[in-house]
Amino acid sequence: MKYDYEIAIVGAGAAGYAAAIYAGRSGARAAVFDRGVGGGLTTEAPKVENYPGFKSIGGMELMEKMKEHAAEYAEMRFGEEVTSLEVREDAIGITTTKGTYHVGAVILCTGTAHRKLGVKGEQEFAGKGVSYCATCDGFFFKGKKVAVVGGGSSAVIEAIFLRQIGIDVSVIHRRDELRAEKALEEEAKENGVRFIWNSVVEEILGKEMVEKLKIKNVKTGEVSMLEVDGVFVSIGEEPQNSLAKEIGVALDENGYIKVDGMQKTNVERVFAAGDVTGGVRQIITACAQGAKATLSSLPLVGKRSPY
Ligand code: NAP
Repeated sequence: MKYDYEIAIVGAGAAGYAAAIYAGRSGARAAVFDRGVGGGLTTEAPKVENYPGFKSIGGMELMEKMKEHAAEYAEMRFGEEVTSLEVREDAIGITTTKGTYHVGAVILCTGTAHRKLGVKGEQEFAGKGVSYCATCDGFFFKGKKVAVVGGGSSAVIEAIFLRQIGIDVSVIHRRDELRAEKALEEEAKENGVRFIWNSVVEEILGKEMVEKLKIKNVKTGEVSMLEVDGVFVSIGEEPQNSLAKEIGVALDENGYIKVDGMQKTNVERVFAAGDVTGGVRQIITACAQGAKATLSSLPLVGKRSPY
């Protein structure tokens, strides 16, 4: 069977890069498609301290290293978005913003996207004080006052990062207890992060730029205004599953792709790896899944798994 690529990997985050390395090293002709410049959400992590081999490394730096490594083994097709998939009898058809391809197997490493608050002003002020990435945009708020919305590890890590670059930070959380690791909560408090508990943002207000937040205390019903120059929304992620849905890949109740122990989906020749499959969503697990997905796809393209 003549394929344009034996293995097509959709998404150039940690899972996609690991899948690419394993594909090239197994002798499979592979391509990685990414609508952007690659790296995935890890590029937004101010620092990563739980990826073995690196005591502490910036998320961007780690992903640049992975990209360079993966590019040795697969064709990198950046700036090319996969817009649809088609299940064929003995292949998968891929349509992108730049062409169409006939491939032996597809590994979906499409990751997650930032969850939105869905309140008035959020869309209007996106890029004008509303941000979803402290590492990307924090610098613009130096010496100013911001709020971080959310109570998970990401929200607290972002709050600490913003404090450390000289920003006044309040974390607004809808409950009175964080979901984040305890050690992070302590570090945040030591760094002077303030917490506004049991509260939700009801509206983001301003003229040209964000000026204040309308906040409601969910316990007392009291509504107040908080003056801020910016708001960082860090309330978790949602799986990017539209390609999977289109070809009938089974999803769990939260929209994550269901896979077996070897990253197979219910659709022949379609595998998935990384955050789009849910679970603990860590860089190391994404890499492991990417590797497994490639290894289980090899027999479909006439290659023998070396393991
Ligand atoms: P997360 O753990 O799912 O936390 C999301 C937070 O947002 C929760 O506190 C949640 O509140 C809140 N939230 C959700 N929807 C909301 C809404 N509509 N309005 C207001 N608040 C809302 O997400 P995450 O922090 O992005 O972390 C994702 C995963 O990555 C987790 O497994 C986390 O442990 C992991 N992670 C690990 C590290 C690390 O260094 N080890 C760093 C970052 C992330 P409730 O608490 O009330 O549900």
